[in-house]
Amino acid sequence: MNAFYVPTKIYTGEAAFENLKQYPIHNLCIICDPFVEKSGMVNKLLRVLDEMGAQYRIFSDITPDPNTELVVQGLSRIVAHKPDAVLAMGGGSAIDAAKAISYMYQKTTGAEKPLCIAVPTTSGTGSEATSFAVITDAETHIKYPITDDKLLPNIAILDPTLVRSVPPAVTADTGMDVLTHAVESYVSPMSGTYAEALAEKAVRLVFSDLLTAYHSPDDTRARAHMHAASNLAGFAFDYTSLGINHGIAHAVGGVFHIPHGRCNAVLLPHVIAYNAKNSQFAFDRYTALSRMLELGAASDYQTLKNFCNAIHALMLKMNMPTTLRACGVSEAEFREHLPSIVE
Ligand code: NAD
Repeated sequence: MNAFYVPTKIYTGEAAFENLKQYPIHNLCIICDPFVEKSGMVNKLLRVLDEMGAQYRIFSDITPDPNTELVVQGLSRIVAHKPDAVLAMGGGSAIDAAKAISYMYQKTTGAEKPLCIAVPTTSGTGSEATSFAVITDAETHIKYPITDDKLLPNIAILDPTLVRSVPPAVTADTGMDVLTHAVESYVSPMSGTYAEALAEKAVRLVFSDLLTAYHSPDDTRARAHMHAASNLAGFAFDYTSLGINHGIAHAVGGVFHIPHGRCNAVLLPHVIAYNAKNSQFAFDRYTALSRMLELGAASDYQTLKNFCNAIHALMLKMNMPTTLRACGVSEAEFREHLPSIVE
């Protein structure tokens, strides 16, 4: 028996922050990266908080791939302020940091978990919909996906206007992260009708809207579709978990500091070929996705190849590197770290 449920409340659209007015928020801690604060993106939220008469403090020290030290720093801030709500605004890094900080707050103080609100400003990780937080060990640089249902945000605000400023390279990286989540979830032995439905829609949206979002950042429709795709893929993989693509990407990305989505994308066609060769189940799932995208051919093998080629072509159209070397990793460096990555 399995259970499928979505406890996170999702509010979408350009006025989505207005929905916060129905919650008894008096003392809010906002967690974001310096860009989100300086760009003024946070002002839309602050206007609503002022109208609500809520107090807030901003902790804007989040860095990409948050590490254990950052979580400890954030924890000491919220222990001092005792907020009734924590709001993360930013990419997966800010959201994961905030999720880990509120979780540790509850664990270490025994206080009730503050209301956790996630406002993604990239369309990639789906972290607003998952019970994962990826935190890097500050000393070993190993990325640990910690997982607990208590990490799931209570509320997600999906405002597509917040994503318009994402530069093309980050749009490409994060969009390919969405695709990797959806594909890994779809091919998981844990998948079932519900997760499949979410993953299929996410894959369709990536192929229909990612290039538009990349070329036309102000296209709110394409941005909204990619935001939804990221969210749907998040719910899908929260149910099924992920696969070896993410396993390798976390190990490689932690060592070479390659953006998470880019690292996933470089690996994806290789992981598909590997999984398809070693599992009939995986082969059938990949070819089903290929046919769904109308890439079916006379032979199943060609149908699989067409799927890998379509992913590769999408990456090239967005000027993405398709090898680790093109991501700046030399062969010597790679070989030096290979044993620890494999381990
Ligand atoms: P990120 O959060 O690291 O952000 C990447 C860059 O984009 C940053 O420099 C940030 O300042 C900038 N940025 C964010 N929003 C912007 C905007 N609207 N306009 C302009 N610039 C903007 O990147 P990410 O890909 O969103 O998150 C990656 C992290 O999430 C990794 O640590 C990864 O391991 C983790 N992750 C978590 C989950 C999960 O379920 N919790 C899933 C996948 C990945």
